[in-house]
Amino acid sequence: MNTSIKCLVTGGAGFIGSHLCDALIDKGYEVFCVDNLITGSKKNIAHLLNNSQFHFILHDITKPFPSTINYLYHLASPASPPVYRKYSIETLLVNSLGTYNMLELAKKENSVFLLASTSEVYGNPLTHPQKENYYGNVNPTGTRACYDEGKRFAEAITMEYVRKFKLQGRIARIFNTYGPRMQPTDGRVVSNFVTQAIAGKPLTMYGDGSQTRSFCYISDMVSGLIAACEKKGIDGEVINLGNPQELTIKRIGEIILSLTGSSSPLVRVKKKEIDDPQMRKPDISKAKQLLGWQPSVSLDLGLKETIKYFKNL
Ligand code: NAD
Ligand code: UDP
Repeated sequence: MNTSIKCLVTGGAGFIGSHLCDALIDKGYEVFCVDNLITGSKKNIAHLLNNSQFHFILHDITKPFPSTINYLYHLASPASPPVYRKYSIETLLVNSLGTYNMLELAKKENSVFLLASTSEVYGNPLTHPQKENYYGNVNPTGTRACYDEGKRFAEAITMEYVRKFKLQGRIARIFNTYGPRMQPTDGRVVSNFVTQAIAGKPLTMYGDGSQTRSFCYISDMVSGLIAACEKKGIDGEVINLGNPQELTIKRIGEIILSLTGSSSPLVRVKKKEIDDPQMRKPDISKAKQLLGWQPSVSLDLGLKETIKYFKNL
């Protein structure tokens, strides 16, 4: 047991953060979960609350926060397009001021700092698949900018802390992740399609469904995040984490219909928003080479677990 290792997870009561807290507790670490519950839920961490190694701290990280930690996982931020549009100012602030506060904390504590960034920093990409050295095609004033530019700012300030203060910082660019504990109402495509299919309602496809995404199962993402945080000698590295299996949105709808046995139709409900990326697929050769990491859970298995979770809600 590694009881002397302390980790702080911002956004620890969210979808990815709560699974990350589980995995860190399983490693024998002491975990401080900091969350203001703006999009997360105490239900996601209810099973950890009686564990003496786990501490939940209800706190908005745009306000200063004291602690002592070895690894700081900075995940706090709304992540779903309709939700970050609703909380656009909060999203900009948690990624700017919140990231600044967490970097100051990591600098003071001399802890390793992992920024949970996103494939959205590539915007609507003009290269395919996306490698870390692609600068992106982002609309700085569009309706996704609060998130995209918020994360780009977070990446820029993280790199300045690495350069100026020799911070042990690293950046993981997370591609679409799915699995149990996704919120049924947060508007992402997998949660929408699965809940709609189970309820026998039409699957709401935006546009003609030809846009692509590459979906990574939550357990693979968590192991990638831990590998990226714990690897020594990679300060200042930016690493894509995701599953390169690429699908159209129409195809993911068809697969979900087949796995749920639902007879719901797949319907076009509205036009895609203008900045909705047309294609997305990670190049993960850097993660393979630096971390020895690659996803192992098949889409079929991952979706079955996700469907089981939503059926039990
Ligand atoms: P989520 O909304 O489930 O989790 C985010 C958590 O952060 C929530 O629990 C929320 O309450 C908390 N939070 C937000 N603002 C806060 C603040 N000011 N102070 C304290 N806590 C705050 O989202 P998620 O899907 O788990 O995403 C986690 C991280 O991963 C985010 O940074 C997101 O940008 C990144 N990411 C996720 C995906 C994905 O597919 N899920 C893809 C790319 C990047
Ligand atoms: N999408 C869809 N129907 C939905 C929700 C999303 O067709 O009910 C599309 C959306 O337009 C986007 C893709 O699915 O092209 C992925 O959307 P999501 O919100 O899950 O994540 P994003 O990758 O856009 O952040």
